[in-house]
Amino acid sequence: MNVAHIEEQSYIYGPGCRFVIWVQGCSLRCKGCWNSEMWSFEKKTDYSTAELVKKISSEDVEGVTILGGEPLDQLSDVYNLCTKCQQLGLSTMVFTGYELSEINNTDKSIIKSVSDILIVGRYDESLRTIDNQWIGSTNQQILFLTERYADYEIQDANYMEIDIDENGKYTILGFPKDLDYI
Ligand code: SF4
Repeated sequence: MNVAHIEEQSYIYGPGCRFVIWVQGCSLRCKGCWNSEMWSFEKKTDYSTAELVKKISSEDVEGVTILGGEPLDQLSDVYNLCTKCQQLGLSTMVFTGYELSEINNTDKSIIKSVSDILIVGRYDESLRTIDNQWIGSTNQQILFLTERYADYEIQDANYMEIDIDENGKYTILGFPKDLDYI
């Protein structure tokens, strides 16, 4: 899998503490996308499924979240990783810019069989929201595809996370870069 970035533990990209993977490469190119540096399909860090599973297994997380970039542009790698993670008892959550109508009845639909939560739909800057958990624009849909999070209550809020490493370097996650709040 061509990976742009990994956060080993995060609390804002799905339920609980999660291992989060941003894939490199997106063919959809939504206007106003916050992650346009992840559009290019240039090779960043290439991980095998086994390497990612090893990394994930070394973390105390309840699940894995894959976003990007566009996960379904690397369908077989993402499918294989989600399959392995579910076999290990971890939950899986995938963000895709493809619409549900573009997934159903295509080869992409296999992702539905290995995702506990699937978020679908292009980012539409005219429908932008900062008041809804997980989604960036109100047209996007959150699909709970298994019973695992059937009782989960989506919050009317958006969250950010500040990660400070042992060297004092900080990373801000989940924050729209064109909003000057800090
Ligand atoms: S699908 Fe996601 S990564 Fe791709 S352009 Fe749209 S918002 Fe950006």
